Amino acid sequence: MRPLPTLDRDEIQRYGRHLVLPEVGMAGQRRIKGARILLVGAGGLGSPAALYLAAAGVGHITLVDFDVVEVTNLQRQVLHGTKDVGRPKTESARDRLRDLNPHVSLTLHDGRLDAGNALGLVRDHDLVVDGADNFATRYLVNDACVLAGRPDVHASIYRFDGQASVFATADGPCYRCLHPSPPLPGEVPSCAEGGVLGVLPGLLGTIQATEALKLVTGVGQPLVGRLLLVDALSMRFRTVTVRKDPGCPACGTRTIRELREEAFACEPIASGDRVPEITPLELAERIGRGDALTILDVREPAEWELGRLPGARLAPLSRLGEEIAGLDPAREVVAYCRSGVRSQTAGRLLLAAGFVRVVSLAGGILRYGAELDPSLPRY
Ligand SMILES: [Zn+2]
Repeated sequence: MRPLPTLDRDEIQRYGRHLVLPEVGMAGQRRIKGARILLVGAGGLGSPAALYLAAAGVGHITLVDFDVVEVTNLQRQVLHGTKDVGRPKTESARDRLRDLNPHVSLTLHDGRLDAGNALGLVRDHDLVVDGADNFATRYLVNDACVLAGRPDVHASIYRFDGQASVFATADGPCYRCLHPSPPLPGEVPSCAEGGVLGVLPGLLGTIQATEALKLVTGVGQPLVGRLLLVDALSMRFRTVTVRKDPGCPACGTRTIRELREEAFACEPIASGDRVPEITPLELAERIGRGDALTILDVREPAEWELGRLPGARLAPLSRLGEEIAGLDPAREVVAYCRSGVRSQTAGRLLLAAGFVRVVSLAGGILRYGAELDPSLPRY
């Protein structure tokens, strides 16, 4: 055990509202100051988590993120500002957190968490707050936490729903007890594809910060063995019990002894299963030549309203079966979506339904807009 640091006069003043809480007090605040927290992702979940952990006086925070701030992030990633667009998220976060609380020491890791560095990073901290937006990182964090014996403060969000739990404690279940293996690539849309209410990561990331502070101070009952489900539309919070699975390859049978990366669910599908792609330029040329093409927009109606390709017809992936009933399967189909992930799924469904020639627009309407038509929406 490391000896707990003491607080100076400034810190005693700053953390007064903690110090007067009998459950925290001086001993708890010194534990918070002595804590080392690894925060994976400085995005939607990581933003409130980082802000509250820094404000609370966590002594050391390491931030891992490989991304740069984009204007589309600002709808929910409140750690960053408009002036930060184009900067690495770690640097933008550092400036904001330093301003918020100069007593916090920060380490920036501007890169991905991967199978090579995860275990070392996790071991070097007391706990991990997982703010990742993809399954590969979520499994990597979980497995590293199980191997290193560090709690994994988990949350994930999708559209209007969120969930949170604390995994990989000594007695509790881990993420693999709940979901033994990741969904297949392309099976679930990424956040960018699916959309998310901006405040939702704020709610869930704040819950993660709460759980982290409880673990550090030993106050209350952490979300161990319970999964909190948040439905923002009905504003219902419920918890379901998650049991430790004796057959879990991570924390049960312990067959996972070293880290490996699971396939990225948010990224393109393995090449063997891919529907052939067409580039925006090729598509524009073929439209220009008057080729016989059925251009299917497989996005949702709200996205269609934002803008669409010329001659396209709306057939949302969520009800593709009904929408394609009247189409000629002998005619070539070009499927497109926002960024080229859902159109791959749609393409495979169309081929399975007997369509003869199906291609997917590479990079979706975003790339088409960037390369050929700036009037198309960026979202
Ligand atoms: Zn497990």
